[in-house]
Amino acid sequence: MSEILDPTPTLTLRKNGASGSTSSGVQRSLIEGYRCVACKDMGFYIRDVPRGHPDFGKAFPCACRTQGKLERQHRRLQAIDGLTPAERRLRFSGLHVDDDNRGAYEAIVYALSRKRGIVTLYGKPGRGKTTLLVAAVNETREANIPSVYARVSDILDYLRSAYDPDRERELSADERWRLLITADVLALDELDQFKTTPWALEKFLALIDERWRTMDRLVTLLAGNAALANLPEKVASRLQDRRAHIFHLAGIDMRRFSTWETSAERESETA
Ligand SMILES: [Zn+2]
Repeated sequence: MSEILDPTPTLTLRKNGASGSTSSGVQRSLIEGYRCVACKDMGFYIRDVPRGHPDFGKAFPCACRTQGKLERQHRRLQAIDGLTPAERRLRFSGLHVDDDNRGAYEAIVYALSRKRGIVTLYGKPGRGKTTLLVAAVNETREANIPSVYARVSDILDYLRSAYDPDRERELSADERWRLLITADVLALDELDQFKTTPWALEKFLALIDERWRTMDRLVTLLAGNAALANLPEKVASRLQDRRAHIFHLAGIDMRRFSTWETSAERESETA
C-alpha cells in the first residue's frame, strides 16, 4: 500500500548542498523545505486509495495541524483549573469506593467510556464529590482528551476577566466561551455557590444549556451541595433529562479516610 500512513510532522529545512541538517544555521537555504513533509504544509493529506473507496478524494487534516490545536486546547483548559500538584496526581485507583459513592463512580466511568452524558452529584461537603470530579478529569487528561475541572465561580471569573482591559489575555471572551462549551470533559464544582448577579446567572444558565445540547457527544460532570430544587428551574430541568444521571452522595465524611483533601472542599467546609 502506498498510502500516507504516518502524517507525523517532521521538520525538514534543507541547507544548500547539505542534506539532513535541521539546524537554524546562519545560512538558510534558497530552497526551503517543507515544515511538514506529510502534507507539504497544506494542512491536509489525501489517501492513495482506489476510486470507489469511501476515503477516495477525501481530505484528512494532517497531524501537524490537529496536534497543535489539541495541545493548545489542553494547555488552555489546564490553565483554568488551578489544581494543586497533589490534586493533579489523583486517579480513580486512589479513590475510596463504597456503597455510598459506587453508583456515582460507576456512572462517571460509564459516561467517560462512552464519551458522552451528564452526571450530577450532590450532597453535603466532604462526601467526595470534588475528589470524583478531579480524578475523572485527571484520567481523561492522561488519555489526551481535552478536559477541565473548575468551580463555577472560577469559570465565571475566567469569562468575566476577558473584558478586563488591564489584564494580559490570550483569549477573547468568545474564544473562552468556545473553549468551555467544546471541552470533551467539563467538570463543574460548587454548582450552587456563586454570586448570582444577573450576568453570572445568565452565563451559568447558558453554559448548562450548551452542555445539555451536546450531551450526546461531550461529557459534563457537575457537583453541588444543595438538592436540585435549589437550583434555577431551567438548570434543574436540564440535569433531570432522562439521559442524565443524578446521585446523592450520603454516608460518612470521606475525608476521614483520605490522606489528602482538595482545596475546593477545604474552602467549602470553612465557608
Ligand atoms: Zn502536515
